[in-house]
Amino acid sequence: MLPLDPQADIGRRAWVTCPNCEDHRECPVCEQGRRCPDHWRYLLTNTGSLLHLQCPSCTHIWDHETGFGATRTKWTRRTSSL
Ligand SMILES: [Zn+2]
Ligand SMILES: [Zn+2]
Repeated sequence: MLPLDPQADIGRRAWVTCPNCEDHRECPVCEQGRRCPDHWRYLLTNTGSLLHLQCPSCTHIWDHETGFGATRTKWTRRTSSL
């Protein structure tokens, strides 16, 4: 298990399924695509639509392409204040 990244901040969370532990499976809340109180990931950083995430359950770190591209999501609004 990796330690939590120093950038991990509970104030910045993303609801993305973890490809490592897949702890969302068989969870009725996640199945409905809702913001599950148990299964969320730390949003460490993001570059455009690419999110750098860490799973609090298994501490797996990976990149997730949201595919939003030029569309500004709430994540990009939060980190770039041009
Ligand atoms: Zn995980
Ligand atoms: Zn869940």
